[in-house]
Order: sequence, then structure tokens, then C-alpha cells
Amino acid sequence: MGGILEGKRILVAGVTMDTSLGFAVAKVAQEQGAQVVITNFGRALSITRRIAKRLPVEPAVLELDVTNEEHLAGLADSLRAHVDRLDGVVHSIAFAPQEALGGNFLQTSWPDVATALHVSTYSFKALAMAALPLMQHGGSIVGLTFDASVAWPAYDWMGVAKAGLESCARYLARDLGPKGIRVNLVSAGPTKTIAAKGIPGFEQVESIWAPRAPLGWDADDREATGRACVALLSDFFPKTTGEIIHVDGGYHAMGA
Ligand code: NAP
Repeated sequence: MGGILEGKRILVAGVTMDTSLGFAVAKVAQEQGAQVVITNFGRALSITRRIAKRLPVEPAVLELDVTNEEHLAGLADSLRAHVDRLDGVVHSIAFAPQEALGGNFLQTSWPDVATALHVSTYSFKALAMAALPLMQHGGSIVGLTFDASVAWPAYDWMGVAKAGLESCARYLARDLGPKGIRVNLVSAGPTKTIAAKGIPGFEQVESIWAPRAPLGWDADDREATGRACVALLSDFFPKTTGEIIHVDGGYHAMGA
């Protein structure tokens, strides 16, 4: 086969449905030769186990709530039952309470903001550290953002969480670089997933994207994002870290 991830072991955290961006990453990674382990948490875990059968090869499914210190502490050992090392980790996780989204920005209370930041920002560092024991030979960590350099309708505190994630990725790149670990983000355009549906008013952002993106944009196309993540996991970006790669049809580069 000779795919670009041949022989690599990849953890994809945050797969619920086959619409999840994490599912697209796992699928392309397997097609490119990787052995993949996926995670999800809580009640949706049974859905993930069913959805896992739709991947080209049914992967191991582990439970990981990124806010649960015990889950994080046990991750390396749980992984060792399936892989002897990790070459890559994908963080495809975000959550914000409804009160933190959809135009309620000025009224949102700290506990709701704290939840958004814990799950969507701090967890990137937490996941990286939990996986580190299996990455002693170096590797690649990839996360997913939505352009946090500007304010968007409806995105609200998730936008603030993403700005934090983008900064977090740069600090992780600084501290993990000496261990041979690259840390990068893919900034995806608006895509129809459960997380996106949970943001009241986000359709407005979706509708402006396609006409303005020079390459056009299809909110049902997850493969483009999956491929970019896989490219970053591969050996074809050996000197790239602390970077944000846009997979948005070129939207971010246009002034109007
Ligand atoms: P998704 O399918 O809903 O994936 C988000 C995942 O995060 C779900 O599997 C969810 O699990 C998981 N999650 C939430 N809280 C968690 C926790 N405490 N511990 C572990 N996992 C948790 O939606 P998605 O759009 O593919 O999101 C994946 C990533 O892409 C996110 O970082 C998102 O911000 C980013 N992104 C999305 C878009 C877009 O337009 N969709 C654009 C740019 C970037 P449950 O389903 O069980 O809650």
C-alpha cells in the first residue's frame, strides 16, 4: 500500500459520529496505513463503538473524558494494551455550555466559561501530557481550531477558547519541540457536525463561507480537513511546528 502513515500508531480523541471531524481523520489515517485508536466519553461511548465499525478497519475504542484526571492518568496504560508507542495524537474535542454560545456573550457566567476553556483549551495540553509516555521517540500532535483571530456571530466564548487553544499550541510547540514532538493546528471552515449544530446561529457563518472562499466550500466535506491532519501527522512536515494550517477554501486570506 505504502501510505504516508505506514507503520504509524495514531490516537484520535473525540469521535462520536461518522460526521465528526475526528472520524474523517481516523478514516484517512487508516487509508494511509496507520494503526488507529479512537476515544470518546460518557454516554456517547456506545455510539462511538458502533460508529467505529464504519471505519475501514475497526479500531480500539477507549474512554477518555479530558476533564477527568483519572482517565488522563490511565490513558498511557490503556493505550499500551493496543499499541507499544504513539507517533501521533489528534485532539478533536470542544465543548461549551449553551449559555456560552449564540449571542449571550455579555451575560455568560464564569462557571460556563470555565467549562468551555477546560474542555476546549486546557485539554490540549492535558491530552498531550497524558500521551507523552508513549511518544518518547518524538511525534506529531494535531488539534482543530476555528479561526480565532477575529470575532464571529454566535461563536462567542468558544471563540475565546479557540484563541486560547491557538496560543496553547504555540507553547506546547515550544516545550515539546526539544523532545522531537511537533504541535500544529488545522483551522477548518464551518463543517456540519454535532458540535456545529449545537451553536445557535452558526448557520449564518456557514452561509457566508462558500461565496467568499476562492476554492469554494462544502460544509459536508470533512475529508479535506482529515487529509490536512494526516499530512501534519506524516513525515512530510518535519520542520513545521507551532503552525496553523487553514483548510477553509482560502476564506481567511480574502478581505472581502
Ligand atoms: P463533534 O463530532 O461533536 O466532535 C467533538 C468531540 O468532542 C465529540 O466527540 C465530543 O464528545 C467530544 N467531547 C466533548 N467534551 C469532551 C470531554 N470532556 N472529553 C472528551 N471528549 C469530549 O464535532 P466536530 O465539529 O467534529 O469537532 C471536532 C473539533 O473540530 C473541535 O475542536 C471543533 O471545535 C473543531 N472544529 C469544528 C468546526 C466545525 O465547523 N464543525 C470547524 C473548525 C474546528 P460527545 O459527542 O460525546 O460530547
